[in-house]
Amino acid sequence: MHESVPQPTASAGPDTIAAVATALGGAVAVIRVSGPEAVVAVQRVWRSRTSLDRPPFRQLRLGRVLDASGRPLDQALAAAFPGPSSYTGELMAEVHCHGGPLTARLVLLELFRHGVRPAEPGEFTRRAFLNGKMDLTQAEAVADLIEAQTEMALRLANRQLEGRLGRAVDALYDDLLFLAGEVEARLDFPDEDLDFLPPAELDDRFARTGAAVERLLADRREGEVLRRGIRLVLAGPTNVGKSSLLNAILGWDRAIVTQVPGTTRDTLEELAHIRGVPVRLIDTAGVRETLDLVEKTGVERSVETIRRAEILLWVIDATRPYADQAYPGFTRRTPVVLVANKSDLAPAAPADTPPEFGKPVLTCALTGDGFEELFDRIEQVVWERPHAGVPETAVSVRHAALLDHTVELLADARRQCAEGAWENAAVTLRAAVNETGRITGRCYSDDLLDSVFARFCIGK
Ligand code: GDP
Repeated sequence: MHESVPQPTASAGPDTIAAVATALGGAVAVIRVSGPEAVVAVQRVWRSRTSLDRPPFRQLRLGRVLDASGRPLDQALAAAFPGPSSYTGELMAEVHCHGGPLTARLVLLELFRHGVRPAEPGEFTRRAFLNGKMDLTQAEAVADLIEAQTEMALRLANRQLEGRLGRAVDALYDDLLFLAGEVEARLDFPDEDLDFLPPAELDDRFARTGAAVERLLADRREGEVLRRGIRLVLAGPTNVGKSSLLNAILGWDRAIVTQVPGTTRDTLEELAHIRGVPVRLIDTAGVRETLDLVEKTGVERSVETIRRAEILLWVIDATRPYADQAYPGFTRRTPVVLVANKSDLAPAAPADTPPEFGKPVLTCALTGDGFEELFDRIEQVVWERPHAGVPETAVSVRHAALLDHTVELLADARRQCAEGAWENAAVTLRAAVNETGRITGRCYSDDLLDSVFARFCIGK
C-alpha cells in the first residue's frame, strides 16, 4: 500500500507556514513549509518531471525554481513529508536552494503569494508539540541543542530530546494524580466502604512522591550551568597578568596585552570551555584608584562586573606581597579563587596570603604552568559537589521553578490530609498536578507556549 498525501480541505484547520530554516550565508538554503497546502504551494514555485505528492516521499528530487512569470530561476531539490510522521506532524515540504539567500527569498515570496504565511519563531516546533510529536521538555531540548556550546551541553540536550526528562516528569505527574484521586474519592464517597489507603500508607505515598520531586531537582545546578554557562570574572590589580591569563585560556589573542598599566579600559567577555563547562570569561580593567576619566568608567564597570560574577579569579603578582594587592572583598557570596601569577619569576605564592582563600593557585600565563590545577579548582567550584559527568536528566530554570512550587504544594496537601481537611487537600493536589503538567505541557496555556517558544528562532 502506498502512503498518500492528504488533500487540502476547505475546512478551517491550521494554515500553511513557511520559513528559511538555515542560517544566512550558507551555500544551500533550506525552506521549510508545513500545513495542508505545503505541497500544492511548493509545486507552484518548484517544478520537476514527477509530482511531489506521489511517492517516494522524504526523498529529495531535482527540479527548477520558477519566478512569477514561470521562467526558471535556479535548480533546487525538494521533498514532501506526509503527516503524521513529519517533524510537525502535518504535511510538510522542503526546498533546498543552492543559490543561497536570494533564491530562498524569491521562493519564500512566491510561496507567500500562494496562500502560505511566514512562520513565527519556533512555530514548526510548536506545531510538533500541539500535534503530540513531542512534549514541551523535548521542544525545549531542540532549542538547547541549537544553543549548546559544549559537548556536555549537547549530550544533555540529546537526552532530553529522547524524552528522558519528560518520562521522569510524567511518572511524577501520575503519582500526583494518584494522590489527588485518593483524596477526591474520600470527598465523593465519604460514607461508602471503599478501599481507601490506610492513613500511614497514604502518608508514605506523599513521602515517596516528595522524594521523586527532590530527585528531579537534584540536578538543577548541572542543568543551569550546562545550558547557560557560568560567569567567571578575572580581576585584580593592574599588570598582574589578567589579560595574559585570559588569552592563554582562550588560546588566542582577544585582549590587547601590553605593559602599560590600565590598557584594558573596558570589560571583555569571551566564551570558553573549561572541562566541558561553558564559561563566560570576563576580564576587567585593573581595579585601582585613578583620576583618568576614561579609565574611571572602566573601573566602575569592573566593580559592577565583579559583583555579578559567579566565580571570581582574584589574580595577583606572585613576586609581590599579598598585602599590596589584597582582595578588597567586593562581594561576600561569590566564590573567590586566589591566583598568584608569574610563577616563572617566583618560586611560590606570596607568604602573606590569608588562609580564607585556601592555597593560592600558582600560574604562569606565559607557559601555561599551573593551569590544570586552576581548572581543577574552577571545576570544583562550578559543581559544588563530586561530579559524575552529564546527568541523565537536568531540569532547567523553568522546570525547577514549577517543581519548587510542587514541593510546597505537596507539603501543604500532606499536612491537610493529616488534619482530615480533605477538601483543601484535593484543591492543593490539583494545583500540584497542574504545576507538574506545565513542565511537559500536559497542562498548557497559550501564554505558557508563547514564553517557551519565544527563545526559538524563525524556521525552527
Ligand atoms: P593585566 O593588566 O593584569 O591584564 O596584565 P597583562 O596581562 O597586560 O600583563 C602585564 C605584563 O605582565 C605583560 O608584560 C605580560 O607579558 C606580563 N605577564 C603576564 N603574565 C606573566 C607571567 O606569568 N610571567 C611573566 N614573567 N610575565 C607575565
